[in-house]
Amino acid sequence: MKLLVLAEHNNKDLKSSTLSTINAASKIDQNIDILIIGSNCESVINKLKNTQNIKKILVVNDENYENPIAENISQIIISVAEHYTHILAPASTFGKNIMPRVAAKLDVAQISDIIKIETADTFVRPIYAGNALATVQSSDSKKIITVRPTSFDTVSTEGGNAEIEELSLEIENSKIEFLGREETKSDRPELGSARIVISGGRGLGSAENFSLLNEIADKLNAAIGASRAAVDAGYISNDSQVGQTGKVVVPDLYIAVGISGAIQHLAGMKESKIIVAINKDEEAPIFNIADYGLQADLFEALPQLSSELDKLNTINQ
Ligand code: FAD
Repeated sequence: MKLLVLAEHNNKDLKSSTLSTINAASKIDQNIDILIIGSNCESVINKLKNTQNIKKILVVNDENYENPIAENISQIIISVAEHYTHILAPASTFGKNIMPRVAAKLDVAQISDIIKIETADTFVRPIYAGNALATVQSSDSKKIITVRPTSFDTVSTEGGNAEIEELSLEIENSKIEFLGREETKSDRPELGSARIVISGGRGLGSAENFSLLNEIADKLNAAIGASRAAVDAGYISNDSQVGQTGKVVVPDLYIAVGISGAIQHLAGMKESKIIVAINKDEEAPIFNIADYGLQADLFEALPQLSSELDKLNTINQ
């Protein structure tokens, strides 16, 4: 067996989802290579050079690949695919964009969003918005897999000694061209990897009221999430959506404010280590999964929480 992991990065920093994917791969076999495609991405190469469990780093470091476009990147993966039995990428926006194309071109079924490895051909993945787990066995000769990063710890970036190989490829780029990128700029931790997340729902009532969450997020160094109802109402942008059709988060602490707890929302946060819910309706389903529930009007509870955090900060200083 020989495995290839596709690295997710922004040319400067390696995403921790890559380190989780390497860990998942190592549960199949330790014979792992990693593929880095980017431009001026030396810092990413350096980071992976000493990462545990990697035999070889394949590098395409070329200005044409500054921005990952599935149509172009998939061609590189396919050109090296014959050497590998398993090809893995994180089940992030990045991996979900590229891997289905790779699977289709190789004429195999993709195995998506795995959370556990049973054997080299058998994997566990959530279905029905996380309400059931399917154990799937693949008979394809090559396994194309996306890995749910929050289900696997990250491997250490120390102690390894990978060999580096620059790939020289004659690949004709597709007719798809990168035009621009609009990114949300925030000093807060990234929603997908934050240790604390505070999310707001329809109960907040307006975009202005969402600022009540900002204040607390700043004090807790938390990321801000939202229910789909809050996103659809325009209170916050859709990259903050948590749930079945949003992001899956597994923070140490998840605070749900004015969120009822629909199954589609729970699908994105119910594995959080500690769940706190603030809701004025004692019958709200979110209380069924909350470790701590506060039945209260959020417009009274949030300012109180904020001032208690101030007191704590003063004591700690
Ligand atoms: P509501 O259900 O309206 O709940 C608002 C809550 O706020 C209520 O419980 C209310 O008691 C409380 N509240 C109101 N005022 C206050 C106050 N002053 N103080 C305290 N509490 C108050 N949803 C997601 O979140 N993520 C998804 O990814 C997602 N994907 C979906 C995919 C599909 C295919 C479908 C059909 C639906 C999906 N949904 C998703 C939508 C989901 O079904 C719910 O509609 C949504 O989660 C409800 O959001 P909410 O809890 O904010 O709103």
